[in-house]
Amino acid sequence: MRWEGREQSDNVEDRRGSGGGGGGGGRIALGGGMGTIVLLVIVWLMGGNPLQFLQEQGGGTGSPGVEAPASPEEEKTKQFVATILKDTETIWGEEFKKMGSTYEEPKLVIFRSQVRSGCGFAGAQMGPFYCPTDRTVYIDLSFFNELSQRFGAPGDFAQAYVIAHEVGHHVQNLLGVSSKVHEAQQRGGEVQANQLSVRLELQADFLAGMWARKGQQKYDFLEQGDLEEALRAANQIGDDTLQRQAQGQVVPDSFTHGSSEQRVRWFKKGLQSDRFDPNNTFQTDDL
Ligand SMILES: [Zn+2]
Repeated sequence: MRWEGREQSDNVEDRRGSGGGGGGGGRIALGGGMGTIVLLVIVWLMGGNPLQFLQEQGGGTGSPGVEAPASPEEEKTKQFVATILKDTETIWGEEFKKMGSTYEEPKLVIFRSQVRSGCGFAGAQMGPFYCPTDRTVYIDLSFFNELSQRFGAPGDFAQAYVIAHEVGHHVQNLLGVSSKVHEAQQRGGEVQANQLSVRLELQADFLAGMWARKGQQKYDFLEQGDLEEALRAANQIGDDTLQRQAQGQVVPDSFTHGSSEQRVRWFKKGLQSDRFDPNNTFQTDDL
């Protein structure tokens, strides 16, 4: 993918390393997790001052919350993420204007290991996500290594697809699609809630595909093999593929994101679309 030299977004917040997480005891407690909380209770039970304990822990090297410095490679990935985010802001800004409305840009938080989001605490193991409450995309950059090594989907355009998918959830949030889905999920049973989740996720894949189309028209950013990278990523994170790897069997009723074939199909549909119909994945029997 051609991305270097293009403008980067101002909406990226880096919460890795010191100074990024609110500082002091709070961040240490965050980094230390349950172990720290247990220790604090012990300190308190023994008549100590837990706050003082936290401060002492925070000062030392090698304590649970101290983070490794970012590598030059990670810094480059951060610039890549900021560039892709800017590309989404430009493209969706134009698309919303065509629809007679204004695109409100999301934030993107880069974190390491765990993060406090508007949707609660989250760990890196759950992968990148979008929180509608604070209109923010959260990503631990190590996910891209996982995408390459564990999921077998390397390449910068595979990474761009992941970001564009999360931004797709923001587009759905702005257009009121997400809130309608969540209301319907409250009314229905678990299987129905899962089916609605699949439709929402496939639509985010569609939006990622449509973004790729518009981006290509505007920036000519695709290089040989890029689309294959994104399609491989969509295929490798399909529910059936993930379930087969994790548990050796596939349970379609428990799908929340769609099968590999569906994810690839809706991304491709987006690649061929000039406009977005918010009903596209909801009013069809042919997912
Ligand atoms: Zn999603």
